[in-house]
Amino acid sequence: MRQVWLKNGWILTMDGERRVFQNGDVLIENDRIKAIGAVDPSEVRADAEVVELNGKTVMPGLINTHVHTMQQLGRGIADDVDLLTWLYKRVFPYESCMTEEEAYLSALACSLELIRSGVTTFAEAGGKEVNGIARAVQEAGIRAVLCRATMDMPEGLPEPWRESTEHSLAVQEELFERWHGQADGRLRVWFGLRTIFNCSDELIVRTKELADRHGVGIHMHVAEIPEEIRFVEEQRGRTTVEHLAHLGVLGPNMLAVHTVWMTDREIDLFRLHDVKVSHNPAAAMRVLGFARIPEMLERGITVSIATDGAPCNNRMDMIDEMLLTALIHKGRTLTPTKLPAVQVLEMATVNGAHCLGWADEIGSLEVGKKADLIIINPRSAGVLPVHDPVSTLVYAMHSSNVESSMCNGQWIMKDCRIVTLDEDAILDRVQDTARAIVQRAGIELPHPYPVTKVR
Ligand SMILES: [Zn+2]
Repeated sequence: MRQVWLKNGWILTMDGERRVFQNGDVLIENDRIKAIGAVDPSEVRADAEVVELNGKTVMPGLINTHVHTMQQLGRGIADDVDLLTWLYKRVFPYESCMTEEEAYLSALACSLELIRSGVTTFAEAGGKEVNGIARAVQEAGIRAVLCRATMDMPEGLPEPWRESTEHSLAVQEELFERWHGQADGRLRVWFGLRTIFNCSDELIVRTKELADRHGVGIHMHVAEIPEEIRFVEEQRGRTTVEHLAHLGVLGPNMLAVHTVWMTDREIDLFRLHDVKVSHNPAAAMRVLGFARIPEMLERGITVSIATDGAPCNNRMDMIDEMLLTALIHKGRTLTPTKLPAVQVLEMATVNGAHCLGWADEIGSLEVGKKADLIIINPRSAGVLPVHDPVSTLVYAMHSSNVESSMCNGQWIMKDCRIVTLDEDAILDRVQDTARAIVQRAGIELPHPYPVTKVR
């Protein structure tokens, strides 16, 4: 039996009452939380690892509900371009020519950044090379809900991505059988639908049947741009969300990502069917627009936060996304009281767990739950002083303040050193591998300024 005793810090539980303990403790036994608040020393074994917090903060590990791990090496290949260039000239050619080994390296590099920004669980947005991604997650020690981007209508897609409805579904079932529940239960597999532009009604309906039969969820980009809404209206007679409702696929196991172009009626449909939402503020501002997140929260919809992929955000940093979430909706609605710090923290923790159907085990620090937690050291010029630990986290913290991270009771970062992966060895391979993929994909990245090669 292994015990870890975290002693004498701010403990933000994010439990049902959102309790906070000052000078409090957490006792971890194997992979779960055994005690929280005041720990009875008689429960602590003589060989327990003791960590003196000295006023640092312990909180649930952050949950990032939409990450394209295969795009990590594509950071910077699509800056300052319009959406169609972004998709068809940069990201699709790039991602569709990657090998499984490159997907593995990309997911390792992404895991480094996720861990450093306090993430212990993420949901894959749908890279094709799921086997490579799964191996990376297994080694990184984090928790993930994987899915494979699925499309069966070929318009605009690169050749390697063209596949039949049957094949799309069969491959996902194989991945489910292979990976669901692996890595000590840290891996789960969902079913994916990339976007309604490239998904037939048959694929959408059969995906819902499969997800329900296996008791898992569906991960889908929904209502991203006005062109999508117009396209669906023209082709299928209704807007995206109305059409999904008509097909009978809206439900509590659907995670709808972005949801920027939504009518009041569509927000009501989400509420009615308990559809979950992943809000990606940086990516949305970059290429999509402003999602109506306060309106959704006010109607009782569960909304979480995510970074999206590196080519549309460039920083896969949940702490930056929390700050953006708090700021942009105050600005958009001209209401400074919207999305207060504690609500933003809920979105990044407990709401994320609900969005992934995993709230029975993660998302908050409670006795019996999994030990997925991070330790924040506020001692830096950008953070001190701390008057309110929750406000400090949302408005002042940087990812460099995340000092340690534990997932499933195992340290994955300790005192700012990642212990599960060889960070240097991964970083050594990033630049050359990324350049090779860009060349193979035939992507031109002209500099808008003169560059003189000196040597
Ligand atoms: Zn995405």
